[in-house]
Amino acid sequence: MAKLGRELAAKGVDVINLSFGEPDFHTPEYIKDAAKKAMDENYTYYTPVSGYPDLRKAIVAKLKNENNLDYDISQIVVSTGAKQAIANAVLCLVNPGEEVIIPTPYWVSYSEVVKLAEGKSVFINTTAESNFKITAEQLEAAITPKSKLFMFSSPCNPTGSVYSKDELEALAKVFEKHPEIYIISDEIYEHINFVDKHESIAQFDSIKDRVIIINGFSKSYAMTGWRIGYTASNKEIAAACDKMQGQITSGTCSITQRAGIAAYEGGLESVHEMREDFRKRRDIVYNLLKDIEGIEVNLPEGAFYFFPDVTSFFGKSYNGKTINDANELSIYLLEEAHVSTVGGDSFGDKTSIRMSYAAAEDKLIEAMGRIKAALAKLS
Ligand code: PMP
Repeated sequence: MAKLGRELAAKGVDVINLSFGEPDFHTPEYIKDAAKKAMDENYTYYTPVSGYPDLRKAIVAKLKNENNLDYDISQIVVSTGAKQAIANAVLCLVNPGEEVIIPTPYWVSYSEVVKLAEGKSVFINTTAESNFKITAEQLEAAITPKSKLFMFSSPCNPTGSVYSKDELEALAKVFEKHPEIYIISDEIYEHINFVDKHESIAQFDSIKDRVIIINGFSKSYAMTGWRIGYTASNKEIAAACDKMQGQITSGTCSITQRAGIAAYEGGLESVHEMREDFRKRRDIVYNLLKDIEGIEVNLPEGAFYFFPDVTSFFGKSYNGKTINDANELSIYLLEEAHVSTVGGDSFGDKTSIRMSYAAAEDKLIEAMGRIKAALAKLS
């Protein structure tokens, strides 16, 4: 959709892009300054594969101070984005034929990286009624002798759902009974949480050793292009991820790593400012979306996406074109309203489309107006 949107924009069409998973804010100045300084200080050489020790120390301090979790720097592997951190962990853990349990809707790359590992994704379907969250019973029912890994994000991309401590504890109790299953807990949207303090499933000591936390700087510090993320895991998995990464990319960019240290040492002020802006935009879009006939939408509790159900438009037509599924609706909205969104298929859910609200307020208001007008034309 991003590509189609760019093609239309290149033809001079005023496209509003709500398809990207990227904050529209600039990286805070103090982080950019640290990168400039790093260059001047000649941080231009290969880095240790798992990252500079002082960066890993800053990550360990962050995990203690913000999440009350104890890790040693030997348990941290810094990667080229959280995406590589996920790929490292999945490729290290999953053998051909083993099963990876993934609640739907999920972030697109989860199922794709499982394919690279020749594993098998086993999906647990969730719906808006449960706020797109799974229960302990659903988890238990999905487990088989081949289950190796469970992978989820909270706050969730694409639904914005946030698991509470009690909900995570119920899942942890199931994992206690299945000591062969590892858990990838993708916490990249940790700071874009509008409900409570962030809760990590790694807080439960009985399973902590089997949890691989994924986190990074892309979303919290508006650093998507810098490419930096990390895993926090047990030492054995960390050593395996280091080995894997050492043969693929080596350590991530030296300058980015210095900027990462500055980001974490600089505190959370800029992060909280961005979160409050996201909250304002979420509320604006929610009120406008609720008002569109045929759209069913939940108020997201975190991240920066809406995932509205659009099934009521399936089978409707305009100008001889019939909408059969969410992808076709997404294409219709691009062509008719010049707003780019993403069909839910990519996230394992055919009922909905994903709209990012990481765009300026006036653009968001304009986009909702255009979507409403385009949907009203369908009959
Ligand atoms: N996990 C989730 C849930 C994401 O949405 C994204 C980015 N869209 C990532 C991981 C990857 O982030 P990074 O930019 O650090 O690779």
